[in-house]
Amino acid sequence: MPAQIIDGKAIAESVRNQVAAETQQLIRDTGIVPHLAAVLVGNDPASEVYVRNKERACLKAGLRSTLHRLDAATTQADLLELIAALNHDRSVHGILVQLPLPKHLDATQILDAVLPTKDVDAFHPENTGLMFQGRPRFLPCTPAGAMKMLEVSNVSIAGRHAVVIGRSDIVGKPMAALLVQKGVDATVTICHSRTADIGAVCRTADILIAAVGIPEFVKSDMIKPGAVVIDVGINRVNERLVGDVDFTAVSAVASAITPVPGGVGPMTIAMLLQNTLKSARRC
Ligand code: NAD
Repeated sequence: MPAQIIDGKAIAESVRNQVAAETQQLIRDTGIVPHLAAVLVGNDPASEVYVRNKERACLKAGLRSTLHRLDAATTQADLLELIAALNHDRSVHGILVQLPLPKHLDATQILDAVLPTKDVDAFHPENTGLMFQGRPRFLPCTPAGAMKMLEVSNVSIAGRHAVVIGRSDIVGKPMAALLVQKGVDATVTICHSRTADIGAVCRTADILIAAVGIPEFVKSDMIKPGAVVIDVGINRVNERLVGDVDFTAVSAVASAITPVPGGVGPMTIAMLLQNTLKSARRC
């Protein structure tokens, strides 16, 4: 039987609708309009698309969205000055610095400069620390979106073996942290570029999360029959979006799988809106 498709588009829509309803309620009760400020440096075409999609999603859900566009040659000092201004602006509840930044900028210093209480991407070390300790302020959007998909699809996680491929600070590591936390209770293995016999490790996974950045890296012979597969990858191949999983072949072995596009991608934006609303509520 082919795998059940976990429909990220539909799940994300229901999250966004919930955010929209709660935003209206917040505005009625307090007059506070949740406000996301996005910062885009340069004109990387993929970043332009991501920022536009985030802006559109904000407006549709009744949130305020402002975009701060800076020239590709912007200096570190100029960007830090903008972040400081947004930190101080009481009308701004969430600050998003679109990555990647141009190479001459120190992204770590920039992200560390965002006020942790406005860090709706949850990249600041304070928020990472709180999440790892199981008392999150904000959950990082992509891993939180993947968790939401598992929850809505009624995937049983406790006691199962989850394998995460990828150890980035943005996806792999926080994903593993969320799966292993108390109350979720997966047994977690993280694989990375130096893992020996990655296929053998993946074949023991009840839940496999791919965040590698290599098109169709995960093949069907790496899948335990009946496993649940979450494909975080977004790769552009000949103008087409492709995940990190060989979708067609893996669908024949897995019990459930997320597509690309229409999987984790829309969830990331929905979780960003949720974090911005949460930040506005704390005011
Ligand atoms: P990254 O490049 O920072 O990390 C990739 C990870 O894959 C690394 O930890 C590396 O060790 C591992 N890796 C690389 N080659 C490997 C190999 N041959 N075998 C095993 N592991 C290997 O990337 P990232 O930011 O974590 O993103 C991963 C993917 O997820 C990318 O395709 C990215 O575009 C996508 N992504 C999607 C969303 C979304 O909203 N859906 C958000 C962020 C990233």
